[in-house]
Amino acid sequence: MNILVINAGSSSLKYQLLNPETGELLAKGLCERIGIDGKFTYKPQIAGKETLDAVDVTMPTHSEAIQAVLDALVDAKNGVVGSMKEIDAVGHRVVHGGEKFAKSVLITDEVMAAIEECNPLAPLHNPANIIGIKACQALMPGTPMVAVFDTAFHQTMPPKAYMYALPYAYYENDKVRRYGFHGTSHKYVSGRAAAMLGKKPEELKLISCHLGNGSSIAAVDGGKSVDTSMGFTPLAGLPMGTRSGDLDAGILQYLMNKYGMNIDEMLNILNKKSGVEGLSCVSSDFRDLENAANNGDEKAKLAEEKFAYEVKKYVGAYAAAMGGVDAIIFTAGVGENDKGIRAMVCEGLEYMGVKLDAEANQGRGKELVISAPDSKVKVLLIPTNEELMIAQDTAAIVNG
Ligand code: ADP
Repeated sequence: MNILVINAGSSSLKYQLLNPETGELLAKGLCERIGIDGKFTYKPQIAGKETLDAVDVTMPTHSEAIQAVLDALVDAKNGVVGSMKEIDAVGHRVVHGGEKFAKSVLITDEVMAAIEECNPLAPLHNPANIIGIKACQALMPGTPMVAVFDTAFHQTMPPKAYMYALPYAYYENDKVRRYGFHGTSHKYVSGRAAAMLGKKPEELKLISCHLGNGSSIAAVDGGKSVDTSMGFTPLAGLPMGTRSGDLDAGILQYLMNKYGMNIDEMLNILNKKSGVEGLSCVSSDFRDLENAANNGDEKAKLAEEKFAYEVKKYVGAYAAAMGGVDAIIFTAGVGENDKGIRAMVCEGLEYMGVKLDAEANQGRGKELVISAPDSKVKVLLIPTNEELMIAQDTAAIVNG
């Protein structure tokens, strides 16, 4: 079985064709500058097939982009499948499923209408996801399509975790609550953690740290998300590459009044000019921070310390929330690669049974137990694979 996974943005579209049973990746790539001119990248994973790297393909709309993807996948010379019949289903990443979607779902007309109703909750993302789905439906009539939501995994949170202490009417009338994001990643790595530990997900209390350019932490109790650090939007929780994470809302009033900023200007600063980049005055990339810190840059060092300190505080908070923790998972760009950050997070957690193995912590980019053999709480390095999770969910739904 082959599943095409599509992640459509407003002017770009990422895709992968993979086998959900074996995890084999057949091809992946990217369409960029959709609606402008169009650049197409195609990376077949089969020996002897040729890569296309940002070649010019006219893409006035997402339709031409998806057509380019399909043409490349079935191309007689460099394609990876014989015909369109060998693409069994399409899994679409959708950012926001609101309270309507607690799991992945086969796309029908009713489902499309319900996704559209979630647009106000993610005005920059959901409309683009919908355009991608519609373009695919038009080009692949009869091929089943599944929507996989970033928010769905967190729909199991109890009200005390997802409610804000605001007037209740803002929840009832306006749907203001914590939704959480990165759900596909947290779900995938939680499942892998259970497999690595030889346990059932129901038996485990896990803290999943997705630390990338965007970062979030989830408390996963018995296979279900019970709390997560992102909120109504992905701006909440940890400091990130350029996002501030949580802060005192009173700061907004103070700075907006002082500098005559409107809310869009303020939010632009919180989303794009803050986080470790804002604090370090160096970069949003943790590799740059490490280099700068090693060269004596105090602000870069502070940014790393601040980030690791906030991750550590969530670990403590979620262990308390769940009444214990069996394993801490590190995933995504920083979590998978940055041994220094992992060490800083785990340092001082010995009292709660966390003992990192300095040698094992040198590893990167593959599934590893990085805690000491006698560590009560296991520490796991697990590369995330959101596309495989989307493909597996899609296959499960299509196969009934
Ligand atoms: P996104 O949220 O965009 O999906 P990723 O999960 O790909 O982000 O993470 C990207 C980030 O991972 C980079 O900005 C960088 O900070 C960090 N990163 C990648 N490789 C390394 C590395 N070798 N060492 C430290 N940090 C790394």
